[in-house]
Amino acid sequence: MPENVASKKKQRRCVACGASADKRSLHRIVRSKDGHVAFDPTGRAAGRGAYVCSEACFQAARASRKLDRALKASLSADDYERVAQGLAAQRAEEQ
Ligand SMILES: [Zn+2]
Repeated sequence: MPENVASKKKQRRCVACGASADKRSLHRIVRSKDGHVAFDPTGRAAGRGAYVCSEACFQAARASRKLDRALKASLSADDYERVAQGLAAQRAEEQ
């Protein structure tokens, strides 16, 4: 069976579990040019982005520092906390 190439266009990979998913169903974390790391609810913020598929994967990425590697940055505890809060706020909105 040929793979459906069109549906893979906007696929991104979760940095924690490695699962591919549609860009819109993933949570984006962005590091802007000035090095500020934040949760990106729009998915369109300028800068280097990394994706996680769930809050659990964010926690896994936090524990293993995979986000640091994906963003080529050294994230502080404050950075992780800010992203965690952004994720939690978005999840609350979706429910
Ligand atoms: Zn994941």
